[in-house]
Amino acid sequence: MALTSKLPGVSTTIFTVMSELAREEGALNLSQGYPDFDGPPALLERVQHYLTHGHNQYAPMMGVPALREAIADKVLDLYGCRVDAERDVTVTSGATEALFCAISATVHPGDEVLVFDPAYDSYEPAVTLQGARTVHVPTHPPAFSVDWDRVAKLINDRTRMIIINSPHNPTGAVWNAHDIDCLQRIVQGRDIYLLSDEVYEHMVFDGREHVSLCRYPDLFQRSFVVSSFGKTYHTTGWKIGYCVAPSALSDEFRRVHQFVTFTSITPVQLGIADFLSAHPEHHLQLGDFYQAKRDLFCALLDDSPFSLVPSAGTYFQLLDYSAYSDEMDTELAVRLTREKKLASIPMSVFYEHDPGHRMLRFCFAKDDETLRRGAEILCSL
Ligand code: PMP
Ligand code: GLN
Repeated sequence: MALTSKLPGVSTTIFTVMSELAREEGALNLSQGYPDFDGPPALLERVQHYLTHGHNQYAPMMGVPALREAIADKVLDLYGCRVDAERDVTVTSGATEALFCAISATVHPGDEVLVFDPAYDSYEPAVTLQGARTVHVPTHPPAFSVDWDRVAKLINDRTRMIIINSPHNPTGAVWNAHDIDCLQRIVQGRDIYLLSDEVYEHMVFDGREHVSLCRYPDLFQRSFVVSSFGKTYHTTGWKIGYCVAPSALSDEFRRVHQFVTFTSITPVQLGIADFLSAHPEHHLQLGDFYQAKRDLFCALLDDSPFSLVPSAGTYFQLLDYSAYSDEMDTELAVRLTREKKLASIPMSVFYEHDPGHRMLRFCFAKDDETLRRGAEILCSL
């Protein structure tokens, strides 16, 4: 039987490709974004507690109440946004599930969805599966700022959603008040939803502020705001995230979520609920924690043949290698993994069209010793 693919242009995600290659080659893996250190011991203890005290059956479909309350409190404390834990907060199996549910719940066949390239790789396939079209708006180094005049020209009656991601993976760019102003002007009076991927919300550097869409009531009323505890608590393997959205949007979101995963792992939800309320200092200090890692990694690369603009947020650093090689980034990433035993992520895969620049992405969510070993290899090139 011939299966007609619904995603014919999509191959295995670059994160899997590079991590598999790193494993095969025994290479240091600075490609896929995950820490090589564990989550906070007090959090592990709480999850262990629930795991061994009989909390191992289905959680409520929308998430355990204590966790939804803790998320609502956090959103109020940090962004001044009062949401109803009962109706407006849904716990999901990672941010990936939340992104998929938000897109599935809102986007119809024939609609258009705007994304900014380089774009995280899960957005477009989810749009394509709805029979809709992804419209790519490229951004370029060094600032990767949005050309808002271009965005205005691309908006039309078919535009159903704009997907935004600040702090931005893979560039580390962070939006500012000007971006929000422009976004407000562009969506005003139009039936456009916003999907705000804020998984790196706590990782902003050099005194910047994260511009959560939760801060802007006019934008929030049309937004799905998505985050991930995998990022915040160094536990990417737990796959717990959430979506905060006004109740009308959350109702539609849950209609999909209940048939995608129904619910997510109970003891982890309960453990995170305890930890989130008891240890707000963890997420409040995350920016400083990762800024120190970024600074260490960048300082160690002083003698490398690469040029870099320090990342403004996330746990990724881009290196421009144009002075070192004119290979395609996809080729260089593979060659460095095979020959130099260092894995990274090529940037061009996140663009609709080859952007012409030459950059690799490195994850600095690693122990200092790992960063030293990675930098040593890069300096030896
Ligand atoms: N969005 C972005 C921008 C990401 O970098 C990630 C990283 N994994 C995700 C979404 C997915 O998060 P999760 O692992 O919680 O599904
Ligand atoms: N978000 C992670 C990254 O950018 C990877 C997540 C995944 O492997 N799907 O590296």
